[in-house]
Formats: sequence, C-alpha cells, structure tokens
Amino acid sequence: MKLTFLGTGTSQGVPVILEPVPPTLDLNDRRNWRNRCCAHLEIDGAHLQIDAGQEFRMACLAYGVPAVDYFFLTHEHSDHILGMDDLRQFCRSRDGNAIPVYSTWEGCRRVEMIFDYAIRARSHDGYMALQTFVAPEEFVLPSGTRVQTCLLPHGRVQTLGLVFTEAATGRRIAYYTDCHDLTPEAMRLARGADLLVLDALHQKPHPTHLHIAKAVKIAQELGAKETYFTHLTRSVNHASVDAQLPEDIHLAYDGLVVTGE
Ligand SMILES: [Zn+2]
Ligand SMILES: [Zn+2]
Repeated sequence: MKLTFLGTGTSQGVPVILEPVPPTLDLNDRRNWRNRCCAHLEIDGAHLQIDAGQEFRMACLAYGVPAVDYFFLTHEHSDHILGMDDLRQFCRSRDGNAIPVYSTWEGCRRVEMIFDYAIRARSHDGYMALQTFVAPEEFVLPSGTRVQTCLLPHGRVQTLGLVFTEAATGRRIAYYTDCHDLTPEAMRLARGADLLVLDALHQKPHPTHLHIAKAVKIAQELGAKETYFTHLTRSVNHASVDAQLPEDIHLAYDGLVVTGE
C-alpha cells in the first residue's frame, strides 16, 4: 500500500489569506505550506482518493495521481468536497464509467446537490460522472480491499472514519480526519493498525477537532506501528512540533508518501 498526502492543512489552508504569518512558522520549509486535507491511497492495485480539497488539481499534478477508481468523501465540509469537480479528468481513463463515491448519508446528499450535473451512469467527452453510495459498515472492493467504516463526532457533523485492509498483505490503515473524539467502535477498528492518520488541528483544544495532546493520547492507546497527524493549522511549525512528538508519531506534510511497511 502507498498513501500520498495531497493536503495536510486545516480548512483555510496554510498560510491563510490576509492573516499574518506567526513568527514561529517557517515558510522557507515547504512542509509548512499546506493544501486542504486529502489523501491518495494505492492499495491492491486500485487507486482510492479520500476527499478532494480546493487544491486537489494542483496536488494531482504536483504529486502524480494517475487514476481514481473509488472516491471516499469523509464529510460534506467545503475543504473536503470542493475539489471534486476535477474528478472529471479521471472519468476519461475509466472509459466514461462513473466513479463510485462512498460517504455518509449527508455527504452523498451534498455531492448530489453541488454536482447534480455529474450524477449519472456514464460520462461523455470526459465529463464527470459520479455514483453515490452510503458507505456500509463493511464491504469489499472488487480489487479485494476490505473497507470498514464508522462515524466520528465532528461538532454537529458526523465524519466517515475509514479503515482499509490490504488483501495482498493484510496491512491495515485507519484514516480518521475531522473529529473531536473517537467512538469505542472507531477505537476497536483502528487498534494495532499498521498506519494511522489522525486529525490533530493544533496545540490548543478545539470543539470540533482533536488537538495535538489529545491525538497523541489516542494514538498511544491505539498503538499503530506509525501514526501521522493531519489537518494542521498555521500555528504548527513542522520541524519544532514534530521533534516533540513521541517515537512513531509524526506530523504529515503535503507530498509525504508512506507505505505502512
Ligand atoms: Zn476539514
Ligand atoms: Zn470538517
């Protein structure tokens, strides 16, 4: 399996338009330039895209995303959904067949509302076609990957928590973004994963997101082989904050590739 972080920033990205750059944030370090949060997972020979922020197109070009076979929308917030129009290019390589989109019930309805022109069985001339599915708790992709889902609390919204098990190797990756806590079911699914990706906004507590100290506590309890924090704000300077994290827990950054080996 190969996970590429296409974006690791919070909803405004980093740096933020018209906001002063904090003196602690080193913009000469490219790891502190953050697209809106999304990731690309190659697993069992298939290409899975998790969310598409506003910089999805630029990230695909910068980091070389060759295909999207399945799309997973964690929830309907703009920083996860609004890059989806650029999925049209990936319809071309699918011979016009619609890209399956898995999300929560709310997520599916929002996709249908915003991209109503794209909800159909087939596209033509490379135009986008999406087919929405409310993600079941457990299913197997045609490529063999087992997908388990759970709902994560994110303020008044529920986010789809995703756990993928690679058929070829048995390796397991849990991707939990945009949540202020994990449910017992989410903890059960992610325990001992080979790779864990966790929301960790910044140092201070926040009502709708995990903050770094709480994310560290959860990561240590789950005991994944490697944990990466994402959805970071401009108050997180990569080098100095990453250096303070326990072993096997790291900050993700745009363009980072991890394999879970
Ligand atoms: Zn978000
Ligand atoms: Zn959100």
